[in-house]
Amino acid sequence: MNDRARNPIAPPAASVLSHLRRTEEMAAARDSIGNFEAQHCARRWDASLYRPVADEMLHAEFPQWRDTIAWPEGKRFAACLSHDVDCVQLDSRYELARTIALHFRHAGDVGKKLKHLGSVVGLRKAPRKFDVFTPWVEAEQRLGFRSTFFFFPTRVRERHIIDNVYRWDDRTTYRDETCTVREIARDLRRRGWDIGLHGSYLSPLSYEMLAEQKEDVEKAVGETIVASRQHNLHFDAARTPALLEKAGLLVDSTLGSNRDIGFRAGTSYPFRMWDAAARDWLRLVEIPLVLHDGALLRPDNLDLEVESAFAVCKTVIDRVAETRGVVTLLWHPDKAALPDWFALYTRLLEYIHQQNGWGASARDIHEWWASGGMGARHHALVEKLAEAAR
Ligand SMILES: [Zn+2]
Repeated sequence: MNDRARNPIAPPAASVLSHLRRTEEMAAARDSIGNFEAQHCARRWDASLYRPVADEMLHAEFPQWRDTIAWPEGKRFAACLSHDVDCVQLDSRYELARTIALHFRHAGDVGKKLKHLGSVVGLRKAPRKFDVFTPWVEAEQRLGFRSTFFFFPTRVRERHIIDNVYRWDDRTTYRDETCTVREIARDLRRRGWDIGLHGSYLSPLSYEMLAEQKEDVEKAVGETIVASRQHNLHFDAARTPALLEKAGLLVDSTLGSNRDIGFRAGTSYPFRMWDAAARDWLRLVEIPLVLHDGALLRPDNLDLEVESAFAVCKTVIDRVAETRGVVTLLWHPDKAALPDWFALYTRLLEYIHQQNGWGASARDIHEWWASGGMGARHHALVEKLAEAAR
């Protein structure tokens, strides 16, 4: 009797030998300090966190479900493309001065206050005339894709030390001109891109903050907004969903990780959020966040080099294509200045296009999912599961 006959989950002998001989490590992938880490092991990406396991289960339980999924123009799956606007100008004097003031206000003792005043030397740096918006728009437009830009409100009643500090009236480089942030948001919307709310760090716990921040973005854009993602993905699963719904938002895309990629809830499908207090499903829909620039590339996160990151993202996209779900990508606008980070995004857009995926904003995906009846059919399956679990 061989190992697998005795224990079906034991790895085959060949793979045991390969692990002992450390064959995998002979490949080139390393982190930024030259180490082979857990994120370079193929077995990490086989784990269930990186698979839409709930979607796979729905396919197995309800085989007819897959055939009822339809995306526009015969596309096989969707990619929700998104950008959290955390700053609007590289080396901005406005933003640095406000950040220093914010840190100064929050610093407890005089020593710490003086330390923050030391950062004032940064104000001597000239702001860079770099357009952080247009490269994304052009890359998406080339393939007929659109995305959501989540903007941070100017009206924030209690600003946390890690909140953003730009304002609607700040001016920055956009399409070879100098425009206010308000003008940029309006122009993006006019050209078919979606604008969402990037709620402040403390807003997920306060209806008042969410409502006034939504209104603030709407006033700036001149139109109702439907989508939100919380800054730093700060969220309270027990309370925030009901507050977002009460504030009038229709779709959220915060369910992801700052430090990792994958499927937090095991699903790539948009789904109705659970209100833990009312013990009921809300109308508010979650489009889970799956792939994230900082999680993949930052040295304090997965710290993958670009080729490994691309390979891992392809694997995840293939899994979503298989279940015909939605793979959400988040790339921060200011990262247009980092060639590797930006190139990874454009390669992924091309891969999604080759695989017959639909690159769209959170607003468009939500609208398609709701109006095509897929949302209702998906929720009926969730209700069936709940019934079976009773
Ligand atoms: Zn943010």
